[in-house]
Amino acid sequence: MNHKRQPHHGGPFINCSCGLAHLERIHRHWWMKILPWLRFYCCSRCGKSQLASKRAVSFAVTSLRSGSEAAQVPAP
Ligand SMILES: [Zn+2]
Repeated sequence: MNHKRQPHHGGPFINCSCGLAHLERIHRHWWMKILPWLRFYCCSRCGKSQLASKRAVSFAVTSLRSGSEAAQVPAP
């Protein structure tokens, strides 16, 4: 019996480190309606589903498309 935890599944409130610009909108669960300022997304890079504010994501996507990397995750 080996109860291993999956580290990349930190729950919908934990955002992955790929950057908001890679998130794709997916269908919300019913209980997420109590958080109307958040949208449910799936990361197109790592596949993690997570909640994020619509405003933050649209800002990140707009920044990426306009050529600015200001909204990207800072380089290590
Ligand atoms: Zn990701």
